[in-house]
Order: sequence, then C-alpha cells, then structure tokens
Amino acid sequence: MSISFTPLASGSKGNSVLVSNEKYKFLIDCGLCFSELRKRLFSIDVKIEDITGVIITHEHIDHIKSARTLSNTCEIPIYARYEAMPRIEEILGHFDGVCYEQGEILTLGDMEIRSFSTPHDAVAPVGYMITDKDSKAVYATDLGSVPLELFDISTGAGLVMLESNYDPEMLKCGPYPAFLKKRIGSDYGHLSNYDCAEAVLEMLNKGTNKFILGHLSENNNTRQKTGETLLSVLNKSGAELGTDYFAKIAWQHKVTETVGCAIT
Ligand SMILES: [Zn+2]
Ligand SMILES: [Zn+2]
Repeated sequence: MSISFTPLASGSKGNSVLVSNEKYKFLIDCGLCFSELRKRLFSIDVKIEDITGVIITHEHIDHIKSARTLSNTCEIPIYARYEAMPRIEEILGHFDGVCYEQGEILTLGDMEIRSFSTPHDAVAPVGYMITDKDSKAVYATDLGSVPLELFDISTGAGLVMLESNYDPEMLKCGPYPAFLKKRIGSDYGHLSNYDCAEAVLEMLNKGTNKFILGHLSENNNTRQKTGETLLSVLNKSGAELGTDYFAKIAWQHKVTETVGCAIT
C-alpha cells in the first residue's frame, strides 16, 4: 500500500487534494464549487461516490466551499475540528458534519489521520498526517510559519505537501493594502517561498524526498519564483532535483499529476 496525493486545486481560489491508496479515497478540503469538484474528479476517473470523506483544515472559504453540498446531497461525512465546525456552519449553513477533538485519530478505510495545529488566522486550523500500513504522507498549507513540531511529524514521511505562498519582494511591491500585506507576511498568515524551501531542505535532511508545493498566491507569486527559490536553497546544500529529491508545484486551475509516497 502507498498513499498518494492528487491536488485537484491549490491556491486562494480553492483547495482540494485527493488522498488515495490502493483501496480508499478521501479529500483534504473541498474549496471548489460542487460542479467543478465533480468535474475534476471525473477527469481522473473518480466518482463522487468513491470519496469516503472530507477532512477540513480550516474554515476559510477556499477550503470548504462545497462541504454542505457534499454532506447534504452526497451524504459524504465532513470532518472538522470541534472548535471549527460552528464557524463552518455559520458560513455555509447547517449540515451534519463530524466533529473531532484535538489529538483524536480518525480512520477512513485503512488509513489513519492525525491532525496537528498550524499557525494561521482561523479557528483551530490544522494540517494532517496520514498513514496506512506501509506509508505516511503529510499535508500542511495555510501556515504563517513552520512549527518545529512539523519536522517531527514529517519524519519518515514519503511525501509532504507544503505551502509556498508568496515571494516577499512581490508581496512588498504588490497591489495589496498594507493591512493585508501584514496579515499574509505574519507568523499567522501564509508561508513564503524561502521559508518553504528551508523547510523542504530540513525535511530532506531527515529523509523525506518527495514534495508538492502548493497554495501559491496568484498576485504575490509565480510558479517560476517558487521553483527558483526552492532550487537556490537546495542547490546550496548540494541536493539535486530529480536525483536527491522530487518536487512538483500544484496548479490552481487544473488537476495536478498524482504524486505517490515512497514506500517506507
Ligand atoms: Zn487557503
Ligand atoms: Zn486560510
């Protein structure tokens, strides 16, 4: 068995990642409208009925957009932190979601899911560590800084998806109002390309060698800047892309190719 991630969408216009192993499929977040989500799943031969659940990271609309429809119309269980669920229902309207407590282990099919807190301006925001019998994958976007705990959590992971949200220079010179620039750049906002690259390097040193970089800002970043920053930080340490590590940048407006865990 090996867990893989297929980002259906990644960025401030919507986030959703299909998590699968040979037997089961579920989603991390559902921040696309229902018809678009279904369309993107269909394009990779996955039906809505194949989805065993959705685990929500936090209540921002780019992560929850179709949660109520998936729950009410498709009867797919939507899991969110106990503290976050009332806020999600306040935004979307009532649905029968499944609340879990901090530290609780969720089981979807034969995969176990553990949440961990992320520093972000939302109600009890989390990232996820997913394990099955043979592999482990970690998802962490929407975090203003990298908590030290994330390096322990990622140890032994065959795959990590991490946020690479903004280029500091583009953010500084860009069109956003000062308060928004401050919010994004704060320790509870989003992660810069450089901070992401530094975290990737540290994770690589601890043995993880497959990465997906995601949640790129459309206004304050480019795919090129993300790639260049990653390469410059990792090249300095002597690590070579394609040989020592593998990295892919997730797309916003189309499905990104599946990346599977290295078997651990
Ligand atoms: Zn987001
Ligand atoms: Zn957010």
